[in-house]
Amino acid sequence: KVLVGNLVGEGHRNYVLMYNMLTGIRVAVSRCQAKIRRPLVEDDYLASHKYSFDMLGNELTPSAKYDFKFKDYAPWVFRELRDDHFHLDPADYLLSLTAKYILSELGSPGKSGSFFYYSRDYRFIIKTIPHHEHAFLRSILKDYHEHVRTNPHTLLSRFYGLHRVKMPRGRKIHFVIMNNLFPPHKDIHETYDLKGSAWGRETSAEKLAANPKTVLKDKNWVNRGRTLELGPEKRALFTEQLRRDMEFLRRINVMDYSLLVGIHNVERGNRDNLRENTLAFFQPEAPVKRKPSSVKHHAEANTMRRAVARADPKRLLDASQLPSDGSEDRRHFLFYQDDGGLRATDEQNRPMDIIYYLGVIDICTPYNTKKCIEHAWKSMTENPVTISCVEPNTYGQRFLNFLMSVERNGDMSLRPQGLEPPQ
Ligand code: ATP
Ligand code: CA
Ligand code: CA
Repeated sequence: KVLVGNLVGEGHRNYVLMYNMLTGIRVAVSRCQAKIRRPLVEDDYLASHKYSFDMLGNELTPSAKYDFKFKDYAPWVFRELRDDHFHLDPADYLLSLTAKYILSELGSPGKSGSFFYYSRDYRFIIKTIPHHEHAFLRSILKDYHEHVRTNPHTLLSRFYGLHRVKMPRGRKIHFVIMNNLFPPHKDIHETYDLKGSAWGRETSAEKLAANPKTVLKDKNWVNRGRTLELGPEKRALFTEQLRRDMEFLRRINVMDYSLLVGIHNVERGNRDNLRENTLAFFQPEAPVKRKPSSVKHHAEANTMRRAVARADPKRLLDASQLPSDGSEDRRHFLFYQDDGGLRATDEQNRPMDIIYYLGVIDICTPYNTKKCIEHAWKSMTENPVTISCVEPNTYGQRFLNFLMSVERNGDMSLRPQGLEPPQ
């Protein structure tokens, strides 16, 4: 269950939250998308739009099942990111997220307490984030946009939207929508979350025994002799992109990010079918009853209608149906082109039987005083080079060294450096 999550249906403790998130997205995104495109202006990066939903509905918002407030941040910027840089079909995006009002909850896999939800077709991830990460993302949005514009093959998380919901008497919940690095149609046989640091970076044998799909870490990577097997061509491209992305993260003063690596073994194939089995639990839901849309809601209705007309009817009618591969957008990206991922190659650049699904995640933690204190404290007890809390320069350098340092041995395989050798 660690990697696939639980279905959030009616009666689930987070059902209302999920319903409100999706309703807000549906209304806000289609509202922006329906307007005529215009060039971005400086104010767009800091803009936010407020919506107030209730059971009756009003001029601006259709009626909803619950009362809540919704905020859409920098809608024009995210629209441009989605349309121009991430090659998402606007109708598809809305349809994936909101056609069925079903998400799958992964719970809170990290230490941060953030919650993760998958869209029902597994393409998108909604991550709740603390206020400071939300504020940070807004503050760097312009730089991020620029980086994505000039680095179409960036390995950084693709942010599709930034929003907030507030329920009556509830606290404000911020969340981002991003790409799921792992494809719906392929089993991932091993997952690693790599930071290039040894400190506390090992998933225990007990945890693994309890759940073989648990995410592995740096020490496991080294102990199992894993390397990114990329021939000279792909290695050069990948290293260069990673270097540029690290340089960007250093400039915006970020650390604590990781390279998430999913390994699909082609020979082993999809035998486990873990995800498929779980997705089979997805049940079609009765359509949400709404008041007939007023003139103001026409644009939204039209966007949805186009979405519905475009979509594969099987996908619409049968929610348990897996999308054929759900990764049309991926063909635009160098590192997501081989079946949605990056196929390993040997020293002659010939394809091998491994596909990597990888990207740099968790990029909204700036190096700040809290981290400094943590660093100072840990330095007293641990070797400061191996602890995970270091300033962004050191962090980035160590990260690159760990992943890309090449030490050629007899069989020409590549060994990571930067960690003590396994015992
Ligand atoms: P912490 O701050 O404690 O590291 P977090 O709550 O910020 O945790 P992340 O590090 O962003 O969470 O992600 C936790 C896990 O969720 C990852 O190790 C990975 O298994 C999964 N995950 C996160 N982002 C993605 C993504 N884009 N695609 C697929 N899986 C993801
Ligand atoms: Ca993390
Ligand atoms: Ca985090």
